Amino acid sequence: MDPALTRRSLLVGALGVGAVGGLGVAKAAPSNAAVTAVARPSIASCAAWGARPATGTVGMTGPPQKILVHHTASANTTDYSQAAAYSLARNIQSWHFARGWIDSGQQFTISRGGFTMEGRHRSVEGLGSGSSTVFPLGAHCTGQNSTSIGIENEGTYTSALPTSAQWDALVALCAYLCQTYGLGPADIYGHRDFLDTECPGDALYANLPQLRADVATRLGTTNPPPPPTRTWPTLKQGSSGFRVTAAQHLLRHSGRSVTADGAFGPGTAAAVVSFQQAGGLTADGVVGRATWEAPLAVTCRQGQTSDAVRGVQSALTAQGYAVTVDGVFGAGTASATQAFQTAHALDADAVVGPNTWSGLLA
Ligand SMILES: [Zn+2]
Repeated sequence: MDPALTRRSLLVGALGVGAVGGLGVAKAAPSNAAVTAVARPSIASCAAWGARPATGTVGMTGPPQKILVHHTASANTTDYSQAAAYSLARNIQSWHFARGWIDSGQQFTISRGGFTMEGRHRSVEGLGSGSSTVFPLGAHCTGQNSTSIGIENEGTYTSALPTSAQWDALVALCAYLCQTYGLGPADIYGHRDFLDTECPGDALYANLPQLRADVATRLGTTNPPPPPTRTWPTLKQGSSGFRVTAAQHLLRHSGRSVTADGAFGPGTAAAVVSFQQAGGLTADGVVGRATWEAPLAVTCRQGQTSDAVRGVQSALTAQGYAVTVDGVFGAGTASATQAFQTAHALDADAVVGPNTWSGLLA
């Protein structure tokens, strides 16, 4: 969740419980149809770690469609004790109360010592007693709270990685959640897949394919997890057109100096390489899925003014929607976005997240 480290998400409003909707992710078919049973991991309840009562009613929703991985962006402590884990859980709840939330925003927390804890009250309840289709409505990712389960991993994983105990606990919890809720490894995402945020850190995000693979192994699936369902154009030197223009606007948004002229020349290639190197990606100068989702295609919404918004507007224009390419995401851009979303069976929330970007660039 790392509100402290989000680059721009603080500008987009409160990450409140009331924020529902979603980006219209096309849900992959569960790939755990014939699997070995995954044992339920030990999860310390709110009572065990000393949670304060929620300040409002924690409602249940469901079924979940995905699991979102977060990092707490707190210190990479070497205190791996249960006491430290429980203290972390209490601190997170206090931080979230301070944000005006009724309880911890995330459903589960994993400490660097590998202790798995209930976050929001009723999360353990949601896992049990024949109630396999409900989970508590969380507050960990705007637009995804009614459809996803959030896991906070203690630490800052921009370059470091979780401890092995923490990784093992994350794999075990994700596998159990998949089994309980009929999800597959491809339903595991990072927070940044849906919001313009550093979370869960470049290093942990880069290891999500490994997490999906480890969860698949734990589930006993023999086939590799299906790839995400979003499709992206591949752009490289010599490419031209509105997709290149959009990519150039997005590169400018990331701080690279390129001209948004729709022609992918050496300057654009160098900017792509720079972007890729900064993100730990293969620096080949080719804009493919990994680069789009790094994300080069950052989430845009009403109220923002940026080069990324120019990219949205240039793509909308190319798709036949009359908007001014001025970088200001106002009512006109919002209504054009909603019209595009409606026409393409996306959630018409006027937020240009990964799925809408993918559609705009198709
Ligand atoms: Zn996060």
